[in-house]
Amino acid sequence: MHATSTLTGSTEAARELAGKVAIVTGSTSGIGLGIADSFATAGMNIMLNGFGNADEIEQIRRDLEARHGVRVAYSPADMSKAGDIVQMVADTRSAFNQVDVLVNNAGIQHVEPIETFPPQKWDAIIAINLSSSFHAIRAVVPEMKARKWGRIINVASAHALVASPYKSAYVAAKHGVLGLTKTVALETAEFGITVNAICPGYVMTPLVEKQIPETAKARGLTEEQVIKDVLLHAQPTRQFVTTKQLGALAVFLCGTAAASITGAALPVEGGWTAQ
Ligand code: NAD
Repeated sequence: MHATSTLTGSTEAARELAGKVAIVTGSTSGIGLGIADSFATAGMNIMLNGFGNADEIEQIRRDLEARHGVRVAYSPADMSKAGDIVQMVADTRSAFNQVDVLVNNAGIQHVEPIETFPPQKWDAIIAINLSSSFHAIRAVVPEMKARKWGRIINVASAHALVASPYKSAYVAAKHGVLGLTKTVALETAEFGITVNAICPGYVMTPLVEKQIPETAKARGLTEEQVIKDVLLHAQPTRQFVTTKQLGALAVFLCGTAAASITGAALPVEGGWTAQ
């Protein structure tokens, strides 16, 4: 089998997606970068977004273009700012003329008991992990409705389905993302638009690396215990989910084969929420 089909999970979806335009928020790192890479492999043009070192981001942009022969632009939009989000969508139209696919992926985490959970962290997590999806969706839906085609993928979490202690803002935001996903799916169902939430379990990205010491402190454990007894303990496979697995699902959701999947929460969490 060709390497491309292994990466994207669906050669058919990959073939039909060439030339489409996708915005992937928070794609300078981790899951977003994995999804952007899978989309580029499928021949899609990409608007990257996220924070980081300017030279490294430019390297990522050029590398995606060179490896996949697609066009890749970058928006520095801050997902906590509604005006920046509207500008990112406008910049994508300027660069590529249209927006076919929106992946709301940018997110942050903070782990602390509710009594001491900093209110500014609550506000930031609700803004970046939940409200940003609202602002981006409302900016792209009119165009998708007019063209009777669109794909919106919200990267939620297993924490959109179940809770864990010490993650009040994150769990609230991710449950909210699921409500938003279902609502917009109903509003757009007759317009060739699908809206779905991918619900990953633990993926070893900078977001998870940062929460290991925080969780160790909150639970009185060593960092090794957090990995074995908290993170991997949640997942019956005892394996981390990979960014390639999530990228392959995102490509599948963009294809015609997935046209009847909308308003769904798709768990990719090694059996976590089956327990
Ligand atoms: P990550 O830290 O590797 O990447 C987060 C991305 O979001 C980065 O590109 C970062 O620059 C960007 N970002 C953060 N704040 C931003 C802001 N204000 N404006 C614009 N961009 C911003 O994390 P990740 O693990 O890849 O997480 C991506 C998404 O996946 C998040 O929504 C997260 O909640 C979700 N998720 C992660 C896991 C996991 O185990 N890693 C599990 C379930 C869900």
